[in-house]
Amino acid sequence: MNVKRAINGLMRAAYIVPGRPTHAQFEVTNKCNLSCEMCPRTKYYKVKITDMEYEVFERVLDALLPLRLATLTGWGEPLLHPRIYDMAALAKSKGAQAVSLTSNALIFNDYHYEKLLSCGLTDLRISVDNFSETGDGTGHPSGAKSMEKVAELLSRRKDALPRIALAITIYPDNYKDVFTLIDKAAEIGMDGVAIMRMNDRFEETVKRYTFQEENQVCAEYQAWAKKAGIKIGTPREFSHGIRRILYRGGTKCPVTFDNVYVTAEGLITPCCALPKFVTGDPEKCDIETIWKNEKFKKFRVEQRSVCVHCDLLDITYKKR
Ligand code: SF4
Ligand code: SF4
Repeated sequence: MNVKRAINGLMRAAYIVPGRPTHAQFEVTNKCNLSCEMCPRTKYYKVKITDMEYEVFERVLDALLPLRLATLTGWGEPLLHPRIYDMAALAKSKGAQAVSLTSNALIFNDYHYEKLLSCGLTDLRISVDNFSETGDGTGHPSGAKSMEKVAELLSRRKDALPRIALAITIYPDNYKDVFTLIDKAAEIGMDGVAIMRMNDRFEETVKRYTFQEENQVCAEYQAWAKKAGIKIGTPREFSHGIRRILYRGGTKCPVTFDNVYVTAEGLITPCCALPKFVTGDPEKCDIETIWKNEKFKKFRVEQRSVCVHCDLLDITYKKR
Protein backbone atom coordinates (compact mmCIF):
# COMPACT_ATOMS: atom_id res chain seq x y z
CA MET A 1 0.00 0.00 0.00
CA ASN A 2 2.77 2.44 0.98
CA VAL A 3 4.81 1.54 -2.12
CA LYS A 4 1.73 2.24 -4.26
CA ARG A 5 1.24 5.60 -2.56
CA ALA A 6 4.90 6.50 -3.02
CA ILE A 7 4.74 5.64 -6.74
CA ASN A 8 1.54 7.66 -7.08
CA GLY A 9 3.21 10.61 -5.32
CA LEU A 10 6.22 10.45 -7.64
CA MET A 11 3.99 10.26 -10.73
CA ARG A 12 2.02 13.25 -9.48
CA ALA A 13 5.18 15.22 -8.77
CA ALA A 14 6.40 14.52 -12.31
CA TYR A 15 2.87 14.94 -13.72
CA ILE A 16 3.01 11.58 -15.47
CA VAL A 17 -0.70 10.83 -15.72
CA PRO A 18 -1.79 7.19 -15.25
CA GLY A 19 -2.91 5.15 -18.28
CA ARG A 20 -6.58 5.69 -17.40
CA PRO A 21 -8.57 7.68 -14.83
CA THR A 22 -9.00 6.08 -11.43
CA HIS A 23 -11.71 8.46 -10.12
CA ALA A 24 -14.97 9.32 -11.84
CA GLN A 25 -17.68 11.77 -10.87
CA PHE A 26 -21.10 11.05 -12.35
CA GLU A 27 -23.71 13.76 -12.81
CA VAL A 28 -26.51 11.32 -12.01
CA THR A 29 -29.03 14.15 -12.06
CA ASN A 30 -28.84 17.92 -12.16
CA LYS A 31 -32.32 18.36 -10.72
CA CYS A 32 -32.29 19.94 -7.28
CA ASN A 33 -34.72 20.61 -4.46
CA LEU A 34 -32.91 23.89 -3.67
CA SER A 35 -31.90 27.02 -5.56
CA CYS A 36 -28.83 28.37 -3.75
CA GLU A 37 -27.58 31.77 -4.83
CA MET A 38 -24.06 30.41 -5.28
CA CYS A 39 -25.11 27.60 -7.65
CA PRO A 40 -23.80 27.96 -11.22
CA ARG A 41 -25.58 25.03 -12.85
CA THR A 42 -28.50 26.81 -14.47
CA LYS A 43 -27.34 30.43 -14.47
CA TYR A 44 -23.85 29.90 -15.87
CA TYR A 45 -23.40 26.35 -17.05
CA LYS A 46 -26.92 26.35 -18.51
CA VAL A 47 -27.04 22.57 -18.34
CA LYS A 48 -30.15 20.80 -19.56
CA ILE A 49 -32.03 19.73 -16.43
CA THR A 50 -32.32 15.98 -16.63
CA ASP A 51 -31.55 12.62 -15.01
CA MET A 52 -28.80 10.36 -16.34
CA GLU A 53 -30.49 7.33 -17.87
CA TYR A 54 -29.75 4.23 -15.83
CA GLU A 55 -28.63 2.30 -18.93
CA VAL A 56 -26.19 5.12 -19.81
CA PHE A 57 -24.80 4.97 -16.27
CA GLU A 58 -24.34 1.20 -16.56
CA ARG A 59 -22.50 1.43 -19.87
CA VAL A 60 -20.24 4.33 -18.88
CA LEU A 61 -19.47 2.71 -15.52
CA ASP A 62 -18.42 -0.48 -17.33
CA ALA A 63 -16.19 1.56 -19.61
CA LEU A 64 -14.54 3.32 -16.65
CA LEU A 65 -13.99 0.36 -14.31
CA PRO A 66 -11.78 -0.43 -12.44
CA LEU A 67 -12.21 2.68 -10.29
CA ARG A 68 -10.83 3.65 -6.92
CA LEU A 69 -13.65 6.12 -6.42
CA ALA A 70 -17.05 6.55 -8.07
CA THR A 71 -18.71 9.77 -6.94
CA LEU A 72 -22.42 9.79 -7.72
CA THR A 73 -22.97 13.54 -7.52
CA GLY A 74 -22.55 16.33 -10.03
CA TRP A 75 -24.58 19.51 -9.94
CA GLY A 76 -27.88 18.66 -8.29
CA GLU A 77 -29.33 16.58 -5.49
CA PRO A 78 -28.47 12.94 -6.31
CA LEU A 79 -31.24 11.46 -4.16
CA LEU A 80 -33.75 12.87 -6.65
CA HIS A 81 -32.63 10.23 -9.16
CA PRO A 82 -35.22 7.42 -8.99
CA ARG A 83 -32.50 4.73 -9.23
CA ILE A 84 -29.68 6.31 -7.24
CA TYR A 85 -29.41 3.37 -4.85
CA ASP A 86 -29.29 0.86 -7.71
CA MET A 87 -26.45 2.94 -9.16
CA ALA A 88 -24.51 2.91 -5.87
CA ALA A 89 -25.06 -0.84 -5.43
CA LEU A 90 -23.98 -1.53 -9.00
CA ALA A 91 -20.77 0.52 -8.69
CA LYS A 92 -19.87 -1.26 -5.45
CA SER A 93 -20.74 -4.73 -6.68
CA LYS A 94 -18.67 -4.19 -9.82
CA GLY A 95 -15.61 -3.38 -7.74
CA ALA A 96 -15.37 0.40 -7.27
CA GLN A 97 -13.29 0.62 -4.10
CA ALA A 98 -15.20 3.62 -2.76
CA VAL A 99 -18.62 4.96 -3.72
CA SER A 100 -19.63 8.37 -2.48
CA LEU A 101 -22.36 10.94 -2.83
CA THR A 102 -23.21 14.38 -1.49
CA SER A 103 -26.70 15.40 -0.38
CA ASN A 104 -28.29 18.34 1.40
CA ALA A 105 -30.21 15.75 3.50
CA LEU A 106 -33.50 17.62 3.32
CA ILE A 107 -35.39 14.79 1.65
CA PHE A 108 -34.17 12.05 3.99
CA ASN A 109 -37.03 9.87 5.26
CA ASP A 110 -37.43 6.24 6.37
CA TYR A 111 -36.89 4.98 2.82
CA HIS A 112 -33.67 6.99 2.37
CA TYR A 113 -32.32 6.08 5.84
CA GLU A 114 -32.65 2.40 5.04
CA LYS A 115 -31.20 2.66 1.53
CA LEU A 116 -28.33 4.99 2.42
CA LEU A 117 -27.14 2.51 5.02
CA SER A 118 -27.52 -0.63 2.91
CA CYS A 119 -26.77 0.20 -0.74
CA GLY A 120 -22.99 -0.14 -0.56
CA LEU A 121 -22.15 3.52 -0.19
CA THR A 122 -18.78 4.08 1.54
CA ASP A 123 -18.91 7.87 1.94
CA LEU A 124 -21.76 10.30 2.37
CA ARG A 125 -21.19 14.03 2.48
CA ILE A 126 -23.82 16.41 3.76
CA SER A 127 -23.78 19.99 2.42
CA VAL A 128 -24.91 22.43 5.06
CA ASP A 129 -23.72 26.01 5.43
CA ASN A 130 -25.70 27.61 8.22
CA PHE A 131 -27.86 26.68 11.18
CA SER A 132 -30.98 28.75 10.72
CA GLU A 133 -34.40 27.48 9.64
CA THR A 134 -34.58 29.76 6.64
CA GLY A 135 -30.93 30.09 5.62
CA ASP A 136 -29.02 33.28 5.03
CA GLY A 137 -29.71 33.61 1.32
CA THR A 138 -26.25 32.53 0.16
CA GLY A 139 -25.43 28.92 1.00
CA HIS A 140 -27.52 25.80 1.44
CA PRO A 141 -30.53 26.77 3.60
CA SER A 142 -32.24 24.95 6.47
CA GLY A 143 -29.12 23.64 8.16
CA ALA A 144 -30.99 22.89 11.38
CA LYS A 145 -33.46 20.66 9.55
CA SER A 146 -30.68 18.84 7.67
CA MET A 147 -28.74 18.21 10.87
CA GLU A 148 -31.81 16.71 12.57
CA LYS A 149 -32.13 14.26 9.71
CA VAL A 150 -28.42 13.40 9.77
CA ALA A 151 -28.69 12.73 13.52
CA GLU A 152 -31.52 10.29 12.80
CA LEU A 153 -29.48 8.58 10.09
CA LEU A 154 -26.50 8.22 12.41
CA SER A 155 -28.69 6.78 15.16
CA ARG A 156 -29.65 3.98 12.73
CA ARG A 157 -26.10 3.28 11.49
CA LYS A 158 -24.78 0.03 12.92
CA ASP A 159 -21.47 -0.19 11.04
CA ALA A 160 -18.56 2.11 10.34
CA LEU A 161 -19.78 2.63 6.75
CA PRO A 162 -20.85 4.79 5.18
CA ARG A 163 -18.57 7.42 6.71
CA ILE A 164 -20.74 10.50 7.10
CA ALA A 165 -19.08 13.91 6.98
CA LEU A 166 -20.25 17.50 6.84
CA ALA A 167 -19.21 19.81 3.97
CA ILE A 168 -19.50 23.50 4.88
CA THR A 169 -18.89 26.30 2.40
CA ILE A 170 -17.63 29.32 4.31
CA TYR A 171 -18.30 33.03 3.74
CA PRO A 172 -18.44 36.03 6.08
CA ASP A 173 -22.19 35.75 6.75
CA ASN A 174 -21.92 32.20 8.16
CA TYR A 175 -18.83 32.83 10.31
CA LYS A 176 -20.64 32.11 13.60
CA ASP A 177 -22.85 29.31 12.30
CA VAL A 178 -19.79 27.26 11.33
CA PHE A 179 -18.81 26.92 15.01
CA THR A 180 -22.33 25.74 15.81
CA LEU A 181 -22.24 23.25 12.93
CA ILE A 182 -18.87 21.83 14.04
CA ASP A 183 -20.24 21.34 17.57
CA LYS A 184 -23.41 19.75 16.24
CA ALA A 185 -21.47 17.40 13.93
CA ALA A 186 -19.31 16.25 16.84
CA GLU A 187 -22.32 15.88 19.13
CA ILE A 188 -24.27 13.62 16.78
CA GLY A 189 -21.19 11.51 15.93
CA MET A 190 -20.33 12.56 12.36
CA ASP A 191 -17.00 11.31 11.05
CA GLY A 192 -15.54 14.65 10.02
CA VAL A 193 -16.03 18.17 8.70
CA ALA A 194 -14.72 19.52 5.40
CA ILE A 195 -14.49 23.29 5.10
CA MET A 196 -14.94 24.46 1.51
CA ARG A 197 -14.04 27.75 -0.12
CA MET A 198 -16.89 29.77 -1.62
CA ASN A 199 -16.45 29.79 -5.40
CA ASP A 200 -17.04 33.25 -6.86
CA ARG A 201 -15.84 32.36 -10.33
CA PHE A 202 -19.25 32.96 -11.85
CA GLU A 203 -21.18 34.81 -9.20
CA GLU A 204 -18.97 37.74 -8.33
CA THR A 205 -21.63 39.31 -6.12
CA VAL A 206 -21.25 36.45 -3.64
CA LYS A 207 -19.24 37.66 -0.64
CA ARG A 208 -16.24 35.59 0.34
CA TYR A 209 -13.10 35.91 2.47
CA THR A 210 -9.78 37.16 1.16
CA PHE A 211 -7.05 34.51 1.19
CA GLN A 212 -5.57 35.95 4.39
CA GLU A 213 -8.97 36.08 6.12
CA GLU A 214 -9.69 32.53 5.02
CA ASN A 215 -6.43 31.34 6.60
CA GLN A 216 -7.35 33.08 9.83
CA VAL A 217 -10.91 31.73 10.11
CA CYS A 218 -9.83 28.24 9.07
CA ALA A 219 -7.24 28.24 11.87
CA GLU A 220 -10.05 29.18 14.28
CA TYR A 221 -12.29 26.40 12.96
CA GLN A 222 -9.43 23.88 13.19
CA ALA A 223 -8.81 24.76 16.83
CA TRP A 224 -12.55 24.59 17.56
CA ALA A 225 -12.91 21.16 15.91
CA LYS A 226 -9.91 19.86 17.84
CA LYS A 227 -11.59 20.88 21.08
CA ALA A 228 -14.88 19.33 19.96
CA GLY A 229 -13.04 16.10 19.07
CA ILE A 230 -13.90 15.90 15.37
CA LYS A 231 -11.60 15.67 12.32
CA ILE A 232 -11.55 18.69 10.04
CA GLY A 233 -10.11 19.52 6.61
CA THR A 234 -9.81 23.07 5.29
CA PRO A 235 -8.61 24.85 2.12
CA ARG A 236 -5.45 25.79 4.09
CA GLU A 237 -4.06 22.33 3.30
CA PHE A 238 -4.31 23.07 -0.43
CA SER A 239 -1.76 25.82 -0.19
CA HIS A 240 0.86 24.26 2.07
CA GLY A 241 3.79 21.85 1.79
CA ILE A 242 3.83 19.13 -0.84
CA ARG A 243 0.40 20.12 -2.19
CA ARG A 244 1.72 23.49 -3.16
CA ILE A 245 4.47 21.80 -5.21
CA LEU A 246 1.92 19.55 -6.91
CA TYR A 247 0.14 22.60 -8.27
CA ARG A 248 3.33 23.41 -10.18
CA GLY A 249 3.05 27.15 -9.90
CA GLY A 250 -0.67 27.19 -10.65
CA THR A 251 -0.37 25.44 -14.01
CA LYS A 252 -1.62 21.94 -13.17
CA CYS A 253 -4.81 21.10 -11.36
CA PRO A 254 -4.52 17.92 -9.27
CA VAL A 255 -8.14 17.03 -10.09
CA THR A 256 -7.33 16.26 -13.72
CA PHE A 257 -4.42 13.97 -12.84
CA ASP A 258 -6.68 10.96 -12.28
CA ASN A 259 -10.30 12.14 -12.40
CA VAL A 260 -12.98 12.51 -15.06
CA TYR A 261 -16.48 13.95 -14.94
CA VAL A 262 -19.40 12.23 -16.64
CA THR A 263 -22.21 14.57 -17.67
CA ALA A 264 -25.87 13.59 -17.36
CA GLU A 265 -25.72 12.72 -21.09
CA GLY A 266 -22.85 10.29 -20.44
CA LEU A 267 -20.05 12.41 -21.95
CA ILE A 268 -16.55 12.81 -20.51
CA THR A 269 -15.21 16.21 -19.39
CA PRO A 270 -12.18 17.03 -17.17
CA CYS A 271 -14.23 18.13 -14.14
CA CYS A 272 -17.61 19.36 -12.90
CA ALA A 273 -16.61 22.98 -13.49
CA LEU A 274 -16.17 22.34 -17.23
CA PRO A 275 -19.43 20.60 -18.17
CA LYS A 276 -19.29 21.83 -21.77
CA PHE A 277 -15.63 20.89 -22.41
CA VAL A 278 -16.38 17.43 -23.78
CA THR A 279 -13.34 15.28 -24.49
CA GLY A 280 -15.11 12.14 -25.62
CA ASP A 281 -18.05 9.76 -25.59
CA PRO A 282 -17.20 6.50 -23.78
CA GLU A 283 -20.02 4.75 -25.61
CA LYS A 284 -18.21 5.37 -28.90
CA CYS A 285 -14.54 5.18 -27.92
CA ASP A 286 -12.58 3.38 -25.19
CA ILE A 287 -11.64 5.37 -22.10
CA GLU A 288 -7.85 4.99 -22.49
CA THR A 289 -8.09 6.64 -25.91
CA ILE A 290 -10.28 9.50 -24.62
CA TRP A 291 -7.96 10.01 -21.62
CA LYS A 292 -4.94 10.49 -23.88
CA ASN A 293 -6.56 12.01 -26.97
CA GLU A 294 -5.36 15.29 -28.50
CA LYS A 295 -8.05 17.40 -26.81
CA PHE A 296 -7.23 16.04 -23.35
CA LYS A 297 -3.47 16.31 -23.95
CA LYS A 298 -3.78 19.91 -25.14
CA PHE A 299 -5.98 20.69 -22.17
CA ARG A 300 -3.32 19.42 -19.74
CA VAL A 301 -0.75 21.70 -21.37
CA GLU A 302 -2.96 24.78 -21.71
CA GLN A 303 -5.14 24.25 -18.67
CA ARG A 304 -4.96 27.81 -17.47
CA SER A 305 -6.52 29.16 -20.65
CA VAL A 306 -9.48 26.76 -20.31
CA CYS A 307 -9.99 26.90 -16.54
CA VAL A 308 -9.39 30.67 -16.32
CA HIS A 309 -10.11 31.85 -12.75
CA CYS A 310 -10.68 28.50 -11.11
CA ASP A 311 -9.54 28.55 -7.48
CA LEU A 312 -7.77 25.24 -7.91
CA LEU A 313 -5.21 27.03 -10.06
CA ASP A 314 -5.24 30.31 -8.12
CA ILE A 315 -4.97 28.68 -4.72
CA THR A 316 -3.74 31.80 -2.97
CA TYR A 317 -5.92 34.21 -5.04
CA LYS A 318 -2.72 36.05 -5.92
CA LYS A 319 -3.73 36.53 -9.50
CA ARG A 320 -7.03 38.25 -8.69
S1 SF4 B 1 -27.95 22.23 -3.38
FE1 SF4 B 1 -26.14 22.26 -4.72
S2 SF4 B 1 -26.93 21.78 -6.79
FE2 SF4 B 1 -28.70 22.36 -5.51
S3 SF4 B 1 -28.98 24.54 -5.91
FE3 SF4 B 1 -27.69 24.34 -4.07
S4 SF4 B 1 -25.54 24.42 -4.84
FE4 SF4 B 1 -26.92 23.99 -6.59
S1 SF4 C 1 -8.58 23.98 -12.47
FE1 SF4 C 1 -10.70 24.02 -11.85
S2 SF4 C 1 -11.89 24.05 -13.76
FE2 SF4 C 1 -9.83 23.35 -14.23
S3 SF4 C 1 -9.89 21.12 -14.14
FE3 SF4 C 1 -9.22 21.86 -12.13
S4 SF4 C 1 -11.08 22.01 -10.91
FE4 SF4 C 1 -11.68 21.90 -13.08
